[in-house]
Amino acid sequence: MELKKKISEAFASHFGGEGTFYSSAGRINLIGEHTDYNGGFVFPGAIDKVIMAEIRPNDTEKVNLYSVDMDASASFGLNEADAPKEQWARYVFGVCREIIKRGGTVKGFDAVFAGNVPLGAGLSSSAALESCFAFALNDLFNGNSIDKFELAKIGQSTEHNYCGVNCGIMDQFASVFGKKDCLIRLDCRSLEYEYFPFKIDGYKLVLVDSVVKHELVDSPYNKRRESCERVAKRLGIETLRDADMAMLDAVKSDISAEDYMRAKFVIGEKDRVLGVCDALNRGDIETVGRLMYETHEGLSKDYEVSCEELDFLNDVAKECGVTGSRIMGGGFGGCTINLVPDAIHDSFIKTVTEKFNERYGHEPKIYDVIISDGARKIEE
Ligand code: ADP
Ligand code: MG
Repeated sequence: MELKKKISEAFASHFGGEGTFYSSAGRINLIGEHTDYNGGFVFPGAIDKVIMAEIRPNDTEKVNLYSVDMDASASFGLNEADAPKEQWARYVFGVCREIIKRGGTVKGFDAVFAGNVPLGAGLSSSAALESCFAFALNDLFNGNSIDKFELAKIGQSTEHNYCGVNCGIMDQFASVFGKKDCLIRLDCRSLEYEYFPFKIDGYKLVLVDSVVKHELVDSPYNKRRESCERVAKRLGIETLRDADMAMLDAVKSDISAEDYMRAKFVIGEKDRVLGVCDALNRGDIETVGRLMYETHEGLSKDYEVSCEELDFLNDVAKECGVTGSRIMGGGFGGCTINLVPDAIHDSFIKTVTEKFNERYGHEPKIYDVIISDGARKIEE
């Protein structure tokens, strides 16, 4: 059933009458991996998978939620001590609290929400949920006085302070700022951003979710970060954002072979993001794809955050003639993002599903995505 209809029926039966509709989106990142903590660039966009909510102030100090997807209700007050025990409700509670902590207003409301962003697939359903409510509560209680960047930060702080996830700003940023047919290059150092038209007539974006997540004993993310910090320090710069290959090669004999490889990836990745932006401006989709493959190669060989399943998906994409393919997200599992010519779209999905299943005993999950609007009020 259509999302809005499903929500509106649940709202009528739980609370009676109707409220105002809002939605926000999940996101992809076309290129720019492990760049955020190095002060580099990311290049995300919002997608056509959303969380939608119907909301109505209830003239009390209490929030009453019904999650269609969880088929569960939760109620809470708006003070710090009122945190709900349901994990899914803590995302909404956190958004309320973070608005209040910033001096904004949140009063009681009734809300029903549902979505079609797959949970935990790397498309950031949690950011979609936070952004949907942050946007809505800004509109309903604050006359839209909170700026969009602050809305993204409210979502990020919700993850940090109420959900135990120490995430960067990219997911919430993309979810709030997302615009149809545009990707957004975010400079993680200055937080400046720029929209780039993402016109890929003749191609589709396809995510292939390996549905594996390798839990590693020592924290590989921290180790990667430490390598980057060590090299930056050796170069006398704050982050690898300010390094180039000539600088790195000049200190090659002073640093470990491992640190060299890590830094090489980060420096290359910064240039690849800029290269993809230029290529998009020229309408050169082949170059976009080639740079995506280069990123995969770097993540796999130099940064060493891939795994067998993801390398396998990348190889199959190459064999099928997919234009670009790479790991999306931190690595060690999750999905690949693929730029696929329309003509081979169906055959690629069939082949990759069969081959992966043959090799690993389960099918990957496939998601077609279209770059779409982020947080918004639904007027129609
Ligand atoms: P993701 O990578 O998709 O963001 P997370 O683990 O960060 O994965 O967030 C998933 C959590 O967000 C879910 O466990 C749930 O608590 C909440 N959530 C996401 N989508 C929904 C939804 N449609 N309905 C209820 N809760 C949701
Ligand atoms: Mg998340």
